Amino acid sequence: MYAVRRWSTRNAGSLERLYRFSAAIFHALDPLWRKVGLKRLEKPFAATEAWVKGVLFDCKMCGRCVLSVTGMTCPANCPKSVCNGPCGGVRQNGHCEVKPEMRCVWVEAWDGAKRMRDTGSFRRPLPPREYNIEGGSAWLRLTAENMTRRETEDAPGAVSRAKAAAKETQV
Ligand code: SF4
Ligand code: SF4
Repeated sequence: MYAVRRWSTRNAGSLERLYRFSAAIFHALDPLWRKVGLKRLEKPFAATEAWVKGVLFDCKMCGRCVLSVTGMTCPANCPKSVCNGPCGGVRQNGHCEVKPEMRCVWVEAWDGAKRMRDTGSFRRPLPPREYNIEGGSAWLRLTAENMTRRETEDAPGAVSRAKAAAKETQV
């Protein structure tokens, strides 16, 4: 709902703290997720995520969440699907060119980002939208990626291989 979405942007600082806290708990439970199996968890997690983020952010389940960068404002609500906005059509009052009744999501995103601890990350370009992962749980995707990264780092010889690779790049 639009009013709740705007509330989330105005309270981006508090939601960021809540996000960091819940993310820490979620990742502490990685061994449990692994035991149950990420595939088995996909459906219930995606359903929960769609409901919670749908209420708070009008989430469109893009599969890779960027709320922690975009001031707790979901950019998937941009009618032109601009990933690194705003487009050139923002109205003088900050409203959207396509939907005049709505504030431009990127104007909102900047408002929210200014209220967050890590404002700087808003300035980094975001990756293009991956339509092939739409509908999936972004929470589980991140968990799976973190698990793979940790396993790669912990693999025997990973440090020495990384050092050797770094040496090769030196001139
Ligand atoms: S960025 Fe993607 S996952 Fe996050 S709220 Fe928006 S649509 Fe949902
Ligand atoms: S004005 Fe903002 S929300 Fe509207 S289409 Fe352009 S970038 Fe998207």
